[in-house]
Amino acid sequence: MTFNYYMPTKLYVGSNVIEQNGHVFKEFGKKALIVTGKKSAKLNGSLSDVENQLKKNNIEYVIFDEIEENPSLETVAKAVNFGLKEVVEFIVGIGGGSPIDASKAIGVLIKNPDYSIENIFSTNQLKSIPIIAVPTTAGTGTEATQYSIVTDNKAKTKRNLGHNVFPEISFLDYRYMESLSYDVTVNTSIDAFSHLVEAYLNTNANVMSDMYCEKGLKLFGECLPLLLDKNLSKGFREKMMMASTIGGMAIAQVGTSLPHGMGYHLTYFKGMPHGIANGVLYKEYLNIFRDKTKVYKMLDMINVKSLDELGKILDKLIKVDIVVNQEEVDQYTKSMVSNEAKLKNHPEKIGFDEIYNIYANTFLK
Ligand code: NAP
Ligand code: ZN
Repeated sequence: MTFNYYMPTKLYVGSNVIEQNGHVFKEFGKKALIVTGKKSAKLNGSLSDVENQLKKNNIEYVIFDEIEENPSLETVAKAVNFGLKEVVEFIVGIGGGSPIDASKAIGVLIKNPDYSIENIFSTNQLKSIPIIAVPTTAGTGTEATQYSIVTDNKAKTKRNLGHNVFPEISFLDYRYMESLSYDVTVNTSIDAFSHLVEAYLNTNANVMSDMYCEKGLKLFGECLPLLLDKNLSKGFREKMMMASTIGGMAIAQVGTSLPHGMGYHLTYFKGMPHGIANGVLYKEYLNIFRDKTKVYKMLDMINVKSLDELGKILDKLIKVDIVVNQEEVDQYTKSMVSNEAKLKNHPEKIGFDEIYNIYANTFLK
């Protein structure tokens, strides 16, 4: 058994954690850049909680609130210029995965002004100014990962920035998630589920990552009937938030696998939300395992009897309103087959035919 374990992010969890721990912002400097999306942080209370604590602790701040879903490198560059001009010392990323991932990319480029979005992929060793994360969705787990997924319009896909940027601190307060619509709750919950599964069924899985996945999948299993019943109670929100963060801790150690690599094409070319883009492929993805021992263990943890039953549950949750034609299946398959990083995380031998079949059986029925 050989593996490394590293999870340096300090987590503060519970109702009103920002208010109760606002003093910690002082550790990171005298001027902050708040990075967030266009609307939601202003409505769910997270932005005002952060602003109040920054003011209380005499920390200056400026706000960049233009991060779009699946943040582009162009938007990252705009925020970097703003942050450099304002001479900020740390970043508070508030929102879903998009603003928090963007914060990590912005942090790297502010810390390393000799680099730009043109050459940021030429190395993977860069550090960031400190990042504090305030997640308001429960799905990506970015509050506990080193990944920053950005949209690269030149490469026509989404990709990981490649510099390891764990947040210094993440504040987890389920109250911010209470304003999520049912649709975004479904998308993000399926994303959390997909992290737990892809880390569990992964070449790099080890005793530590399995420990996270087993607990996270059990929590997800408890949430699943509530999600299907649209019963998004406080209990649901708290459990899903933890399942998501635990999923992040698992993928931080072992990475994601085929559905994440394959789903990026569906998001980039078809605009499918990230979690749904993974989930739509899941039944066919799980079917390609020749040894299903761990697949069945995973189903048992979420209280689902068979792959067929899981397929029916996902069909109920996911509305597929896109068409993917033969030519696109060929194109996505070719691109995915060259994604060595994702292919090697799948624990069985895999090639063109298996990837093709996952796309084709999903979309060319
Ligand atoms: P998101 O793209 O951050 O946000 C989706 C939508 O939800 C936005 O319209 C946002 O509005 C809204 N929203 C956010 N919080 C809300 C709240 N509390 N109430 C109401 N609406 C709210 O969604 P996400 O699924 O969390 O993040 C997806 C991104 O994360 C993708 O780019 C994906 O590739 C990435 N990802 C990263 C990792 C990682 O480890 N780093 C892992 C998986 C996925 P506003 O724009 O107004 O805020
Ligand atoms: Zn994901």
